Amino acid sequence: LAGYNEGNKAKRRAIMDILRIEHLSKIYGEGDTEVRALDDVSFTVPKGQFVAIIGPSGSGKSTLLHILGGVDTPTDGHVYVDGTDITTLDETALAIYQFYNLIPILTVEENMTLPLLLDDKKVDRAHFDSLVQVLGLQHRLGHLPSELSGGQQQRVSIGRALMNNPAILLADEPTGNLDSKNSKEIVELLRQFNKALNQTVIIITHDERIALDADRVIAVEDGKIVKDEVIRQ
Ligand code: ADP
Repeated sequence: LAGYNEGNKAKRRAIMDILRIEHLSKIYGEGDTEVRALDDVSFTVPKGQFVAIIGPSGSGKSTLLHILGGVDTPTDGHVYVDGTDITTLDETALAIYQFYNLIPILTVEENMTLPLLLDDKKVDRAHFDSLVQVLGLQHRLGHLPSELSGGQQQRVSIGRALMNNPAILLADEPTGNLDSKNSKEIVELLRQFNKALNQTVIIITHDERIALDADRVIAVEDGKIVKDEVIRQ
């Protein structure tokens, strides 16, 4: 019975993990030019966690991001999102969203709803309205991206990413080309969604300051995890 209970516990844990990465490796090139961009990386993320993945340039962050985002395939290993192995799916089946640039000739509302419309999915008005409210974009819905501040543009792309209730919000250097006031604001906004919707957020960044706002920091170097620290539960 003890063994049975242990098994059940393991199963429950597995179900709660929104992301499970198992022995992930990515090798570029071969022979003399071989580069192990990811070298046997394994970790799990429980639903609702706010994770920062940090590492210096060349450590493998982009490679990990591309594999998680479904635009690249691993040499070895598996990535399970909500129990489904995404390494065997084509990218359209993914429930992970990144920040993409906004389309300049479309309004805020059109930018936010376009991915759903392109997928032939219905726009959930109530969900849209509540996102717009939290993002503070009520009075900007008819504006073009060029008529918004940098911070507001980032809000629109966060909103667009959240329209589809993604299993994981994958943020690639969300602060990249913003000033530090805006970047703080964006991270706080991500935190707000993380709390309000129990939205799992993974930020991939080289900025240590962002890591301080996360629940957990995973540091990568030379394609390996060198630190994995839970800061707050
Ligand atoms: P980061 O995003 O942390 O800067 P990357 O994932 O871009 O790191 O790169 C990790 C390592 O893999 C680096 O040594 C880089 O030079 C190498 N690399 C990345 N992409 C390729 C590629 N397409 N071909 C060969 N090597 C690559």
